[in-house]
Amino acid sequence: MALVEARNDVGAGTSKANTAILHTGFDAVPGSVESRLVARGYALLRAYAPTVGISVEETGAVLVAWDDEQAANLPTLEKKAAANGYHHAEVVDPATVREMEPHLGDGITGGMLVPGEHLIDPWSTPIAFATEAVANGCCLFTGFEIANAVVGPEVTRLLAADGREIGARFVVNAAGLHGDTVHRLFGFDGFTIRPRRGELIVFDKLARPLLGRTILPVPTSHTKGVLVAPTVFGNIMLGPTADDIDDRGATGSTRSGLDGLLRKGHRILPALMHEEVTAVYAGLRAATEHSDYQLSCEPSARYICLGGIRSTGLTSSMALAEDALAMLATHMPATPKALDELATIRLTPLGEAGERPYQRGGTVVCHCERVTAEEIDAAIAAPVPARDVDGLRRRTRALAGRCQGFYCAAEVCAHAAVASDRPMSEWMGLP
Ligand SMILES: Cc1cc2nc3c(=O)[nH]c(=O)nc-3n(C[C@H](O)[C@H](O)[C@H](O)COP(=O)(O)OP(=O)(O)OC[C@H]3O[C@@H](n4cnc5c(N)ncnc54)[C@H](O)[C@@H]3O)c2cc1C
Repeated sequence: MALVEARNDVGAGTSKANTAILHTGFDAVPGSVESRLVARGYALLRAYAPTVGISVEETGAVLVAWDDEQAANLPTLEKKAAANGYHHAEVVDPATVREMEPHLGDGITGGMLVPGEHLIDPWSTPIAFATEAVANGCCLFTGFEIANAVVGPEVTRLLAADGREIGARFVVNAAGLHGDTVHRLFGFDGFTIRPRRGELIVFDKLARPLLGRTILPVPTSHTKGVLVAPTVFGNIMLGPTADDIDDRGATGSTRSGLDGLLRKGHRILPALMHEEVTAVYAGLRAATEHSDYQLSCEPSARYICLGGIRSTGLTSSMALAEDALAMLATHMPATPKALDELATIRLTPLGEAGERPYQRGGTVVCHCERVTAEEIDAAIAAPVPARDVDGLRRRTRALAGRCQGFYCAAEVCAHAAVASDRPMSEWMGLP
């Protein structure tokens, strides 16, 4: 088993820049592949996360209507939730919404409770998956961008641009924003990815008391809309936007995107506008011309495609893996390992609600997030190690706090340089 990743780390693509909600799938299109996999993935990941140290919080959500048309739509959304197998959605009146979330803006016309929506740590999730794979014998090839695939009678040759080569009997394409490109390398067609950029604003932790739960808008067919949500790290997040763009690398924030978010945020949670902004970021959804996931199995090429995983792939990830395994078992003679043979793993939870390592002692090197030198060491020595400062951030929260590394980047990188025996300039991303 090999995991082949173009970047120098796992989880550094779209998976590092999303809204971090473990969705119930209440608003999916009933009967769609996405509806089935989000519901299944929700159950799987909710059960798995605490066992491996991925922080989750069951805050619930309230979907808020801001005009009469949206309020009139709520009973339909409640029925849709039931059609998606989610039976806990409940339409409530504006007074109930206000009582639950007293800081919301004026003009609420109705609401629907979705108590099962969870917050989840999006960074630890792919790292946990990769760590568990490596612990069970999977070889991780990073910096290996598949540039060509040659399907032979028994072995497929995966060729990297730098001349490296891997042979595989079966291939699962989970290449995110480049899923269609890899699909075409295998000679298949049927979907084209056009990124849908989502920009977000992260507010300081002092804003956290403003909100008890996630505030959802009434979704449209194009997007789930702009929400305001707490994060497991203790911040409040506003976003995302939804702009169709052509550039698959355009993960920068834009003035117009941020202005639009602030306008919406002002209406939803006016007091939030007086709080400090900690960070802004943008992620690209792997949107296609189709409204559903693009899954396919080509037994003749011993190839499976998990493409077009748009805006719910964090939630559905484990169900996608389960589907891929079922396809392999049905169409190709692959034998999964028996469950009692599997090695288990445990990451240090990054969530603010649980105990953090500094509370047990250690030398703090990132003071905003109170990350210890020992955590940096562990991230560098891990089976799926951090190799740059961004990797450290996603494994420990170092540099992710209020100062965004202004005060601590030099010390964290100096420590990482010693721990890894690599130059500090490499950790700082300097040439
Ligand atoms: C703004 C935004 C908000 C979102 N909010 C949520 C949410 O709240 N809840 C939720 O469940 N989902 C959410 N999502 C969706 C979720 O983030 C994605 O569906 C999920 O992260 C996709 O994971 P992935 O592994 O398919 O893609 P990625 O994380 O992009 O991983 C694909 C990997 O493939 C690698 N790769 C690509 N091409 C090649 C190649 N040729 N060779 C080798 N490697 C290659 C890439 O480097 C990358 O690391 C959101 C997405 C966005 C953008």
